[in-house]
Amino acid sequence: MTSSLLPTYARADLAFDHGNGVWLTATTGERYLDFGAGIAVASLGYSHPHLVEALVKQGGKLWHTSNLFQIPEAERLAARLTEATFADYVFFTNSGAEAVEGAIKTARKYQSACGHPDKYRIITFKGAFHGRTIATVSAGGNPKYMEGFGPKLEGFDNVEFGDLEAAKAAIGPHTGAILVEPIQGEAGIRVGSAEFLRGLRALCDEHGLLLILDEVQTGVGRTGKFFACELSGIKPDIMAIAKGIGGGFPLGAFLATREAAKGMVVGTHGTTYGGNPLATSVGNAVLDVVLKPGFLADVASLGATLKRGLVGLQDAHPGVVAEIRGEGLMLGIALRVPVADFVAAARAEKIVVIPAGDNVARVLPPLIITEEEIAEGLSRLDAACRHFESSQAAALSEAEG
Ligand SMILES: *Cc1c(COP(=O)(O)O)cnc(C)c1O
Repeated sequence: MTSSLLPTYARADLAFDHGNGVWLTATTGERYLDFGAGIAVASLGYSHPHLVEALVKQGGKLWHTSNLFQIPEAERLAARLTEATFADYVFFTNSGAEAVEGAIKTARKYQSACGHPDKYRIITFKGAFHGRTIATVSAGGNPKYMEGFGPKLEGFDNVEFGDLEAAKAAIGPHTGAILVEPIQGEAGIRVGSAEFLRGLRALCDEHGLLLILDEVQTGVGRTGKFFACELSGIKPDIMAIAKGIGGGFPLGAFLATREAAKGMVVGTHGTTYGGNPLATSVGNAVLDVVLKPGFLADVASLGATLKRGLVGLQDAHPGVVAEIRGEGLMLGIALRVPVADFVAAARAEKIVVIPAGDNVARVLPPLIITEEEIAEGLSRLDAACRHFESSQAAALSEAEG
């Protein structure tokens, strides 16, 4: 198919027309079970009545005013986010990369405001994904994403994920912060242990560094907690969020303590669209659902059911599935067959899963999934696994021929 879209994506030959709950209907009329939620974005599935109502209601009132005026919807969402977390302040953005950029700027500005403008370096981790802007690809350290784009932004020291000693050894006189995903998403659902994350918190406290968590993918209920840092009981100084908070509408934010934000005074940072009435109305509607008593406990319990089912899949198909990883509804199937082939086989069974690094297929269904839909998904994934066993058996009998 010829396309006028810049060809930076290898897109599947499939377009969706509409969605309902965890189901997507293709333009061909075929229905797919969605175990991807965009990429952990459509946290409440598709056409959620409460989100649609919030969008339509605000859409008929006011979309945009600029940040030169008070924005009541943004005030309310910020107050609710600070109420429910470590943070005192929130700055709204339009994407995850922009949220991480703001978090990086806030950390550097903090050190500068403390009289240490030279403490601009940030320790980051191999496999990390923080976005596609120049600063965030430099932070992530993946050479593939920097190739040909000129010099990377100075100031990031990239060490092995999970290696506390390596992080400690990387601290120098110019280090000002540590930036980490509690669970690396794009890298293939690599879970940072509680010991590692607590160790990073302790290193920051000991050396006067700020701990920045990138919870763009893990946040807003995905792991069965409001934020993944609760799993290890640590509190960051700054946190970047996006994806789930908008339920599919572009919305991100960075959150900070009063102390960490002390350099961010009038005129130091800005955005045209960030925190607009439309996006923050939808964000408030997402929180109405996610913060309802019992919702997060349900996510944790649904996640446990799904993980058990996936482990069953591994037991039944040891030639296809190597390992199951993750927390809550942020799960990964580490494969023995190429992940691209598995994603295609799943799609043939009318279920969407998302490829990631480490030869892992990510399983990130909307948080409103039911036990019945989990069972249906598992049965479709089982069928996808069987594609490989019949072809493996065919290859074997051909070889034995
Ligand atoms: C997706 C993602 C980002 C980037 O978000 P965009 O909205 O694509 O800019 C940053 N960090 C993590 C952990 C992500 O998963």
